[in-house]
Amino acid sequence: MVRETYFESSDYVPLVRRAMDQFRELEELTGERLLRRCGVLYLGDPGGAVMRGVGESADRHALAIERLDEGTLRRRFPMFAMPEGAQAIFEPGGGFVRPERCIRAWLRLAEGHGASIREGERVESIEEGAKSVVVETDAERYEAGAVIITAGAWTSQLLPRLGRLLRATRQPLAWIEPDAGANGAAGAGGAGDAVSCPVWFIEDGDRGPFYGVPTADDQDPPHGLKVARHVPGESIDPDAPRAEVTEHERRDLEDAMRRLVPGAAGRATAAATCLYTMTPDEHFIIDRAPERRRTFVACGFSGHGFKFAPVIGEILADLVQKGSTELPCGFLRASRF
Ligand SMILES: Cc1cc2nc3c(=O)[nH]c(=O)nc-3n(C[C@H](O)[C@H](O)[C@H](O)COP(=O)(O)OP(=O)(O)OC[C@H]3O[C@@H](n4cnc5c(N)ncnc54)[C@H](O)[C@@H]3O)c2cc1C
Repeated sequence: MVRETYFESSDYVPLVRRAMDQFRELEELTGERLLRRCGVLYLGDPGGAVMRGVGESADRHALAIERLDEGTLRRRFPMFAMPEGAQAIFEPGGGFVRPERCIRAWLRLAEGHGASIREGERVESIEEGAKSVVVETDAERYEAGAVIITAGAWTSQLLPRLGRLLRATRQPLAWIEPDAGANGAAGAGGAGDAVSCPVWFIEDGDRGPFYGVPTADDQDPPHGLKVARHVPGESIDPDAPRAEVTEHERRDLEDAMRRLVPGAAGRATAAATCLYTMTPDEHFIIDRAPERRRTFVACGFSGHGFKFAPVIGEILADLVQKGSTELPCGFLRASRF
């Protein structure tokens, strides 16, 4: 999901707007379709943190949103049910990106600019000296003027000082094939397709927010609507084998679809787990590493970082080359803890 309205904090808006420009730039540079602006629909408690945060970020940054009443919601997005007492806000500028394709494109472009990508090589140590920093991997030894660490859930293995701020969690997700009976079959123009169905983020009481991404004609497998809950799961060692998605977890996501997106409900035909890296305040950490001069880090994306990837790259490049950045990311410094 990509969105400019940002309930987590409206301080993110200038960063995500820059990132959206960079995704469009990436499309131009590669000729690939990476960004689909099908809109983002929020449903939730009008007085709650999510809906208030969406509204505040839109007001503060003059973002285009539409507040929909129940009748309008039914007419425009008939696949959704309006939870009792809920408010509906639609952000037409939001949508989704294809992360795998974006990553492949960035790697290709980086190599075009002279980068060499070393895949499948594990960094084992990073030692700073007076004039350089040495990186030892399981295959090589590198010496450099500076190092950037973006090791996700493994960051605290390389920077133990951040260990108490980072928690890896197991996140189940699934892909739903709409039932034939759903008011509109799957596929182009169907109930769950990006032609008519937006990305959604729906508050669902104690179960936690339920969100999803519609199907699209250029979707790689697994097919179906991608769904999950935006709630940190159980803490996990990122190197430990991850338990498969349980029958209970699958049922929970299928049930949420039936209650909240009945027009595209169906069975979970595929499922997977992945990792969040949570910080205590669920905001990112982008900074020079604690007690280091030549090591920089970006981590702790708490389940909402991909949409910022290009602008975080820009911030890190600025920090390494200039020691500072013009981009407004001071609120993400590690020193806040
Ligand atoms: C279910 C789910 C849904 C999500 N949905 C969204 C969404 O809709 N929108 C959004 O913006 N974000 C979303 N996110 C969050 C997003 O996926 C993450 O914030 C983002 O991918 C984090 O990127 P990263 O580069 O920090 O970590 P990663 O993508 O995990 O990259 C870290 C890399 O470092 C490598 N590495 C680690 N240690 C070493 C080492 N010692 N040596 C060499 N390599 C190493 C790892 O192999 C890995 O490839 C979602 C996350 C999950 C789990």
